[in-house]
Amino acid sequence: MACVFQRDGAAHRLPRRVATLVAAAADHSRGQLMSTPDVASARAAAEALQNGGFVVLAESNDDGAEGNLMLAAQFATPAAVNVLAANANGLVRLCLTDERCQTLGLSAHAVDEREWQPTAPISLREVAGTGASAEDRARTIQGAIDPSRQRDDFAQSGYVFPLRARPEGVLRRAGRTEAAVDLARLAGCLPAAAMSLVMNEDGSVAHGQELAAFASTHGYPLVTVADVIALRRLSEKLVERVTSARLPTDHGEFVAVGFRETLTGAHHIALVCGEVEGGDDVLVRVHAECMGGDVFHSVACTCARDLQHSLDAIAAEGRGVVVYLVAGDRGPVRLTRHEEADAGAAQMAEYGIGAQILAELGLTSIRLLSNHPRTLTGLDGFGLRVTGFVPIGD
Ligand SMILES: [Zn+2]
Repeated sequence: MACVFQRDGAAHRLPRRVATLVAAAADHSRGQLMSTPDVASARAAAEALQNGGFVVLAESNDDGAEGNLMLAAQFATPAAVNVLAANANGLVRLCLTDERCQTLGLSAHAVDEREWQPTAPISLREVAGTGASAEDRARTIQGAIDPSRQRDDFAQSGYVFPLRARPEGVLRRAGRTEAAVDLARLAGCLPAAAMSLVMNEDGSVAHGQELAAFASTHGYPLVTVADVIALRRLSEKLVERVTSARLPTDHGEFVAVGFRETLTGAHHIALVCGEVEGGDDVLVRVHAECMGGDVFHSVACTCARDLQHSLDAIAAEGRGVVVYLVAGDRGPVRLTRHEEADAGAAQMAEYGIGAQILAELGLTSIRLLSNHPRTLTGLDGFGLRVTGFVPIGD
């Protein structure tokens, strides 16, 4: 890689990073965004958690968004667990860091790192009853976050259902598990949260306005995953630009910009065409590495075709970015046929890394090259707005 990315003096022509989130927020206030990530909401939620209060954590501001009632796990008293259980027809989740899950011997069922990661339920062995009562569950939760407790103290059965959060939290995966743990940490509490899904009285899952009404009725702060991302992003940066080089290709002229993840050391590449900083509707492809397709041009998946056509489309438009996410330690090398050829867009949302790279390049308004349009939650926390999807042609 070193030979490709020699510095060539072109760096001064590269777009500068968006100065601050404040600048992005100013754009939003001019009506560019339907929903604005709200750092103030995240701060209010953190303050409530710090005081042992409940918070409603929504996946987004969308009408179809679900949400959880949560509190910092260290404040999960029997009375608080009773509130959580009553709200969700009984099921109480415990969001734990990856490190704590490992200590407790809890492995997630899901193989796919992008999915949420429930583990086996747990119960503190020394509780006298079945483990089902609010008191028993509160004791199990307190045990699970007590550093002096080890895996042998727990049975892997019971009524407390842990969820594993990714090591880098909501900046790695824009999910509620990660947001809950991050918010507890940001509140100065132990990085763990007890939560339950917000339900309507008729037993259906509450969405959108129903969530907002629930929060309002009970006086709970309402916070979204994007709000939590915005708060973290104010003080943290998970990717850094390490090098750049001119890259003339069969498709056209690009500047290859190398990025490094500060926590994992993984390297990724952005191929930038034209002036993209601050532009409207910049054409973007987020491509997940597929060695079989990208390097050997396997026809068992559409990766090679998608990548080549994306480069063509961006070069033809004279402006755009291909973010090439290297698999690194996030999964096996993709050589065999795989169903989700278009995983890049999903990765941008769920790993957050692709979104940070785009934000670092100064992008704010993007059209995504993808044959699988989908709702991408949490991106507004990175100051990014998806204005449309562009199919990748044959
Ligand atoms: Zn492939």
